[in-house]
Parts: sequence; structure tokens; C-alpha cells
Amino acid sequence: MADKDAEWKKTACVLCGSNCGVLVQLGGKDGREIVRVRGDKEHPGTRGYTCNKALQLNYYQSARGRLTAPLRRRDDGTFEEIDWHTAIAEIAGKLVAIRDELGGDKIVYYGGGGQGNHLGGGYSPPLRRAIGSRYRGNALAQEKTGLSWVFDRMVGGFYHGDFEHCETALLVGKNPWQSNGFPRARVVLRQMAKDPNRKLIVIDPRVTETAELADIHLRVKPGRDAWLLAGILGQLVQQELIDHDWLAEHAQGQEAVIEALAEIPVAQYAAYAGIEMAQVEEVAEILGRTNSLSVLEDLGIEMAPNSTLNSYHCILLFLLTGNFAKAGAVNLPAQLVTIFSPDKISETRDERGYETSYKTTPVTESRIISGLIPCNMLPDEILNDHPDRFRAMLIESANPVHSLADAKRMRETLAALDLVVVIDVAMTETAQEADYVLPASSQYEKPEMTFFNFEFPENCAQLRTPLMPPLPGTLSEPEIHARLLEAIDPFDDAELEPLRAAAEEGLDAFALAFGAAANANPKINNYGAYVLYRTLGPSLPDGMTEAAALWGVAQMFAATEASSLARAGFDGTSMQAGNSLFQALIAAQSGLVFSMDEPEDSLRRNRLAGGKVNLQLPEMLDKVRELADYAGAETTEEFPLVLAAGERRSYTANTVVRDPAWAKSNNALTLSVNPSDAANLGINDGGTAWLTTARDSVEVVVEVDKRMLPGTISLPNGFGLSYPDAQGNQVVTGISPNELTAVEDRDDFAYTPWHKFVLARLEAVAGR
Ligand code: SF4
Repeated sequence: MADKDAEWKKTACVLCGSNCGVLVQLGGKDGREIVRVRGDKEHPGTRGYTCNKALQLNYYQSARGRLTAPLRRRDDGTFEEIDWHTAIAEIAGKLVAIRDELGGDKIVYYGGGGQGNHLGGGYSPPLRRAIGSRYRGNALAQEKTGLSWVFDRMVGGFYHGDFEHCETALLVGKNPWQSNGFPRARVVLRQMAKDPNRKLIVIDPRVTETAELADIHLRVKPGRDAWLLAGILGQLVQQELIDHDWLAEHAQGQEAVIEALAEIPVAQYAAYAGIEMAQVEEVAEILGRTNSLSVLEDLGIEMAPNSTLNSYHCILLFLLTGNFAKAGAVNLPAQLVTIFSPDKISETRDERGYETSYKTTPVTESRIISGLIPCNMLPDEILNDHPDRFRAMLIESANPVHSLADAKRMRETLAALDLVVVIDVAMTETAQEADYVLPASSQYEKPEMTFFNFEFPENCAQLRTPLMPPLPGTLSEPEIHARLLEAIDPFDDAELEPLRAAAEEGLDAFALAFGAAANANPKINNYGAYVLYRTLGPSLPDGMTEAAALWGVAQMFAATEASSLARAGFDGTSMQAGNSLFQALIAAQSGLVFSMDEPEDSLRRNRLAGGKVNLQLPEMLDKVRELADYAGAETTEEFPLVLAAGERRSYTANTVVRDPAWAKSNNALTLSVNPSDAANLGINDGGTAWLTTARDSVEVVVEVDKRMLPGTISLPNGFGLSYPDAQGNQVVTGISPNELTAVEDRDDFAYTPWHKFVLARLEAVAGR
């Protein structure tokens, strides 16, 4: 344990995208354990808030089984330790051989960061350019690419609501009590619930902790959200609850949408979705009359049937009611780094008005959205003899075997590749399938940062300083990328030395030198993050070398967001403002506000031609019309239940915490079943049952839970991970949801999987 007077160090929780600022005390062996945690009141975004999970951070930092040497797979399938020099030389050689013989476009880069470690992935572009890798993917492409496709085309960028200040919040398939989505979620939800002048509306089949606080809970049948949302939209239009004046000034394409929604048989759609018409009327009335509406959707609809259409509906809800670019409503926040790469909107259309030229994958010609290969298509891209199939994957801080649909198929997919290199802190399920595993320093052993900076009107960011030196034998991801690049396409020292000298003189001198060098030598620009790492990095305060690429980020931000940055206190010329922001990020250990916005900034940031929001997407509008066929995904006699495979609970997070001991309740491991279903099946609370899907059958412990809608069952996310016991034997605890899912169950547009709609059956295990 730490001395109670030990120094409190500032950092952030890495267990969800909120990345709450925390203070920690270190102790234990070599002072490397996180022994106390509390909220950091000076963090400008989270202001001292944490949930129960932050207290468990040491289960991540001090986990058993950290990798401390590069691993190479032997011919017999086992791994052997090798030194870093050998690992870098061999991997670089194999990447170059694939590039030269088959083409660099056969090498896929996957991952690049999780909930709190986006900085390392920022150093991957130089290496990807050196090996000619054109395709990349990450887990966003199994959750949010449908959303991203529609927001790019409707509001011209990533949007977010202001839940602290909105009068009405609509949460669709989202339980912020457990999965956040905005800062200080539990505090904000309680405030909303207490305030009689505000309304909290939740759409979710389950009585979630958030739904319990809601003014209105629409307990939609699973898989029928699209009909409910279309019904509410129809009601808004048919009862003249839409904001015609706002639309006339700020929107385009609304006529066709209003015409289609005017035809919606609202009462029938409500009934099909399992919702009383009176509730639809009440909700539409509130949405149409509120002074400010914020909408937040999440995996409940994004990993379910009609997911892209559901995202389209959610955006229509706030646009038709004029709740965009308005205080307390939905806005486009300033972003230091855009997590979602903007899609190029095709200018060519077919006779239906559908876009006809867009980037696709090489084998299945699947739509690439936001620059990401659809995760569900990876097996079909690789498990074939097509000459353009992918041949290698470089996987960084990601665990696709565990997190993508159909784990068995993903293992087969990786086995079919010529080369799989994994960069991670532990022997993950994906690392177990690799040819090489490179051990990374943990998120607390190097400078780190998240780019989940989504707030409006004030947006903040926190660059974290290392809490402790890297575990011996590990390297940071920027160092790994740098060494691989140096083995493939090195610079002459003379090319970089002038920049190192300029960095020693200060940021102004460095900025001028970098600009001149980049103009004179395209390789400097091409490998920008690497150049910053090796030139500016050494001049930064001790331990902060990996922060160097942020200088480029700060300069870009200053060049594009001068007014928001100036309001946050960073002004002067673009170069000066960028330098000040970079220096402040390094100095401000609790994080800082980097943009202060006005609602009009959302209109300015809208990338759509003409600066107006757009409601008419022919691809989606046809799907709205097709709802009239009531062709929803249905349960069958063989599989009468709908399984939500991966529910966020009090002790589930992302898979960076592998030690099952972190879960302080059994609820983290159990299958939730409605009491009536349990009684019908003869299963008791705490009893065991066989859970079967089309893909597999597993034994589960049942928790009878009246929050579940009859006919639905749910498994937690983040379990089924292997973790060494005290003797070093790998033990798997809980169920890995993706052993039960299938890649074929996916959205027909964005290919996002239906993890929240897995057909299943449950059978009691005799005698238990
Ligand atoms: S899990 Fe999320 S909400 Fe909870 S403390 Fe960590 S970052 Fe904050």
C-alpha cells in the first residue's frame, strides 16, 4: 500500500470513452501499483466525477501476464522470445517482401487505440505509407460506421448533444448510467430526473438504470426500433410539430422526407414496435415543443437490425424539430483529431439517386465508410483465393478475435494470412493467433491521450504524463513504429539534424524550420509524425517524447479553428496559437479547455456544400418506405429468444482489464433472463442453462432479472478472456459473446453486426 501522504498524481481512467480525470497514489512492488484513486476536481470536463470502475484501475496496470519480450511463433505453433533488434528486422523484412511481391495494399492496419490510448496509433501513418498499406480498420466499423455515413451527409460532421444543459434528452439504445457517452453521466442523469422542467426519454427494451430515472420509457421490442422511430417522426410531421421556419433557413431536401413521413401509419408502427400510441403521441409532443433537444444513440440500435436507418431516423428527429446549431441542443464540436475520417460524398448517382462511386474493399466490394474496412467482411476478404485478398495484418492495441463477430471465423481468418503482427501489453486472444507479438508499455507507462473529445460548447483534452517508467522489455507504440520505419526507409541523419537543433531553440524556431524542411523534402511531410518524434520529441520534458506528434495536431487545429481556440485563450498568429496550445497541453496535467464555441460554429463546421443540413438521403428514404412491408428480423421456433451479446454492466468495460477478479459482483458474468421466461424454462436464479445460437452452445449461469423484456436475454461484454492464475496457467472466465455471434447477421448497408439481436434458445441443465 502507499503511504497515505504519498503524492497524488494526475492521470485519467481508461475504462471507457469518458476518460474521467483521476488522481492516483502509487505503491506496492517498486511503487508501480495504483493503490488509491479519486476523481480529479481540476479536470475541466469531469470535475472530480468517477464511477465505481475507476477504483479498479490497478487490475489493468498490475495485471499478471504482461509481455516483456517480443515473441516469434515457432514452426510447432509455440512462441519463443526474441530480442527487439531481431523482431524489428524480421518484421520489417517480411512487410517489405509482401509490399514488393504482392503490393502494400495487401497489408491491413487494424486498431490503433482504445478508450484511452489514441496517441500511439497517431504514429502509424508513416509506417503505413512506407509499406504502401492502403486499408485500415478498427472496432468503430462494427458499431458506428452507419451513423458516420449518415451524419457526414446530413450535418456534415460528427455531432453531439449537450446533456448537461438540454431541456429534453432522448436516449436511443443507450444506457449512460453504465456506458456514459457524456461527462459525469450519473450526476447529469440524476439532475435531469429531479428537474420538473426537463424531460428524459429512453428507448430501450430493458428497464436500464437510466430508464428507471426517465420521465418516459419506450420499451420497444428488440429489432423494431426503426418502426418506433419512424412512427415518432410520422407523428411529428402529421401533427405539424416540425419547425418549418428553421428548416426553410437551414435545411435542404426536407420536402421529400416530409412527404414520406406524412404517409407513415403511426398507430400501426407503434403497435408493431410494442409501444402504446399514447406514448408516441406524448413523446412527439415533447420533442416538437421543447426549447432544446439533445439526442444520443448507441449500440442498442447501432448493433441491431436496420442500424443505418435507425441512425438516419435519430438525426431526422433533431433536424425536423430545429434542434441543431442551438444552445443545449445538438452541435458539431471542435475536434483536435477527427476519430471519424470524413467520407467523400460521391457526386455521381444512379436513377434512384443513390451514390454510385465510393471506396470499396478489394474482394467483396463492400462499402468502406469513414476510411474503415467493415469488420464483418474481413473473413470474406481473406478466406478465398482472390488475387487481391489481404495477406498480412498489423494489429495495434486491438483484440479483433475477441471483439469482432464470430471469433472462430476470425481465428481462421488470421491463420490464413501470411503475416500477423500484434502490438499489445498482454497475450490477448488475437496475440495468440499472431506470428509476432510486440510488447507495448501500458497506458500509464508513457504519455497518452484520448481523442474522444466531443463536448460542446466547451471541449477539453488531457495529455497524460507517465505515472511510472515502462515495464522493462516493453516499448511505446511510437518507438515501435519508429524502429520499423527506420528499418524500412530510414532518413539520413543530416536530414533531421537541423530540426533537432531548431527544437532546442524553442517552438517558434522549430515551427519555421519544420515548415521549410517539409517544403524542401516531401519525405519530411510524408513521415511527419515520425519526424516530430525523432526531432522535437527529445527536446520535450522528461518522459514526454511521445507527445511530439501533438505539436502537428495543435498547429492544424490552430489553422482551422482559430476563433474557438482564441475564445479558449490561445490567440496570436496561427503558429503562435498552435505553439501555445501544445505547450499548455504538456503543462496542464489535469487537461484544459481547447475550444469554446457558439452554436453558429456548428453551421461553419458543416462540411456540406452550401452549408445547409441535408435531410434527403435516397438510400435511406427508400428504407423508410420499405418499413411498410413489416419485414423485421424475427425469432424462430428453433431460436425463440433474442440475445443481447455484450451488455455494459457495473463491472464490465473494455477488454484492457483481463483479470476477472476486478468484477466485484457475480452479475458481471451471468446471463440475464426475465422471470417469466425463466419459469417457463424451469430455470432458477443462479441455476445453469445451455445457451445456444446458430454458431455455438455454451453453459451459462442464469440471473433472473425483471428488468429484461420477456423474450430477451443478455450477456455482459468484456468476459471470456484468458488470464493466468497464480501458477501461470491460463484460465478463461465467463463467456466471450463473439463465440456465439455470426458475421452474416449484419446491417445490409454498413455491415455492422447485430450483437444486440442474436437469435438464441435456452435450456435448463438437468439437476442444476
Ligand atoms: S469507467 Fe468511464 S465513467 Fe467510470 S470512471 Fe472510468 S472513465 Fe469515468
